[in-house]
Amino acid sequence: MLQDDINPRCLVEAITDDIATSRLRRDHTADSGLAIEALPTVYRGTTFRSALEASWAATLDSLRIAWEYEPETVTLPSGARYLPDFRLPQIGVWLEVKGEGVPRVEKAIEFRQSLRCDCLPHRCSCRWVGGELVLIGHPPRSWTPDYGEDDHRTLWAQAVIARRHGGHPRWTSTRGRAAWLAFCPNCAHGTWFDSPHCRACRRRLVGAEGLESGNQKVRFHRITGVAALGNDDEPHDTPAA
Ligand SMILES: [Zn+2]
Ligand SMILES: [Zn+2]
Repeated sequence: MLQDDINPRCLVEAITDDIATSRLRRDHTADSGLAIEALPTVYRGTTFRSALEASWAATLDSLRIAWEYEPETVTLPSGARYLPDFRLPQIGVWLEVKGEGVPRVEKAIEFRQSLRCDCLPHRCSCRWVGGELVLIGHPPRSWTPDYGEDDHRTLWAQAVIARRHGGHPRWTSTRGRAAWLAFCPNCAHGTWFDSPHCRACRRRLVGAEGLESGNQKVRFHRITGVAALGNDDEPHDTPAA
């Protein structure tokens, strides 16, 4: 059973990250018109190109999925060079993080095609069934309900609905079929699968007792780079060094 409220960072670590983020952003004055989501952000000592990427790292931590950030540049069959954002070595998945309005995913799709195996699905004995998976990670879905005049839902009921429909991680597969997030009852990993088996332990997931779907359960963990300094909404000035 997954605890979706794991906070992987202690307060000291979070504050250290946020101070490093503030220093980093001060050097990016040319980017000052950018939304926080697009600004460089330090999380657990790693410098990410954007707060969205840092948030995906925190979300992966909450799923207990190990990640490596920008582990290697690959050369695609077309000759193009490509630096994927995350490798998730425990579950054979790569994750390309794309902000809203950043539609270019051709390299991720070509990368996926280069990783695909040609086995028949039920005969595949590769380390990762069907080959490694390449996912596109999107910003979490926001929820702006439009309750009509004569709607009598209580605020509490509205909050429940907002939780159910907003703030979840969103992804798409580059394989042309849906990839589901689930918590494997056998190995307790959060794992994406688009074949019947857990990518971490290879046990059959479909029909397994205790299988938990994660699609609508997992919260997206937002890292803004300023939260630990006491204000979620306004960027802070860096404390005097
Ligand atoms: Zn295979
Ligand atoms: Zn498993």
